[in-house]
Amino acid sequence: MDVDKHAEELASALGVDKSEVRSDLENLLQYSVPIEEAKQSIRRKHGDGGGGSAEPVSLDVAEVTPDKSNVTVTGKVLTVGRRTIRYQGEDVEIREGELADETGVISYTAWQDFGFEPGDSITVGNAGVREWDGQPELNLGENTSVAVADDLEVPYEVGGESSLIDLEPGDRGRTIEVRVLEMERRTIDGRDGETEILSGEVGDETGRLPFTDWSPRAEIEPGADLRIEDVYVREFRGVPSVNLSEFTTVTPLPEAVAVREDAPQLSVGRAVETGGMYDVEVVGTVIQLRDGSGLIERCPECGRVVQGGQCRSHGAVEAEDDLRVKAIVDDGTGTLTAILGTELTAEVYGGGIEEAKSAARDAMDKEVVAAEIANRIEGRTFRVRGNLSVDDYGANLNAEAFEPVADDPAEEAKAALERLGSTPVGGPAADGGERR
Ligand SMILES: [Zn+2]
Repeated sequence: MDVDKHAEELASALGVDKSEVRSDLENLLQYSVPIEEAKQSIRRKHGDGGGGSAEPVSLDVAEVTPDKSNVTVTGKVLTVGRRTIRYQGEDVEIREGELADETGVISYTAWQDFGFEPGDSITVGNAGVREWDGQPELNLGENTSVAVADDLEVPYEVGGESSLIDLEPGDRGRTIEVRVLEMERRTIDGRDGETEILSGEVGDETGRLPFTDWSPRAEIEPGADLRIEDVYVREFRGVPSVNLSEFTTVTPLPEAVAVREDAPQLSVGRAVETGGMYDVEVVGTVIQLRDGSGLIERCPECGRVVQGGQCRSHGAVEAEDDLRVKAIVDDGTGTLTAILGTELTAEVYGGGIEEAKSAARDAMDKEVVAAEIANRIEGRTFRVRGNLSVDDYGANLNAEAFEPVADDPAEEAKAALERLGSTPVGGPAADGGERR
């Protein structure tokens, strides 16, 4: 951004010294105040009551778009999360969450404490708007005013109480009631040197999610049932992850939290749409094995799959044999790639690494292993459970469970015959005339 040009323009409009305007402007921009808001505040300082194009406009929440620079919005505060962020070398305490009117919900970030709480109806004056993750977000800076408004009825829940299945990356100021399922203490190289953190998994009756506690608390231990207030959600390795900040409060619950044992089952299309889920189950047909399935070789240093003994990072290595399946699964609503590790692959192959190597030696071709697996799973329907990550290259479901489904009696009969070693007689009569 050309600060000099803005300073020049302002200085001549206000008839004041350019270097002073420039220094004020730079100061405001350093605090992330949007340029129009910064200029407005400098105009006010020099007695220009703020006419011109940057005059605040009163808008409904649904009317706020990122191209607006200076708005007034009245809404009910749904959530208030607190967090410290490192901004230009300094720790800044911010408040962030959502506010709503009857037309919609909008996120906000407040750079100071305006004193509002969830449930308060407020009028935010002179707020900046910025785009965050494709959505408009209100930016409440030092030029923003916050006033109490008449109580608003809004069709949204106040307080941020959430089930794990509803949490999405970007959520802030949320409250959850969960059981700690797994926990480990780790030392990481954080922004202030070595820091101890807790990470693990929490569950409730809707699902499970990974968590990180950045200020380790004694209450967090395996088996603990807890109410955790003011958490934010980030994406970590393609799935939502619950984060506890220094402002998060943790209260032991008197009663046990029921934890869902099975994973939520979604259609493939819907699962991919979520953008990533920690624990999900889909049912679909394996339409094809992808390259890189069967008997593969990995770099002993980094675990990456290598071709011809050459790792992309480590050059020529003594590669280690492994088994893997990458199977395209389709349920009519979409496709994803199910990835099976060593053990699950051995199960569907019907043998371990040694058997696979021996078969490859006999055939003098490693591809026989993938071909055998394809023969066993292509065209069949499976229940796949695991962690789903979605990125520009596609959707990958790292399978923890991969079980055949035989809900169709004809399929069941065919599978039973095959288990007995008989080849089913072809034709419509044998399979009931139904092809899936
Ligand atoms: Zn390597």
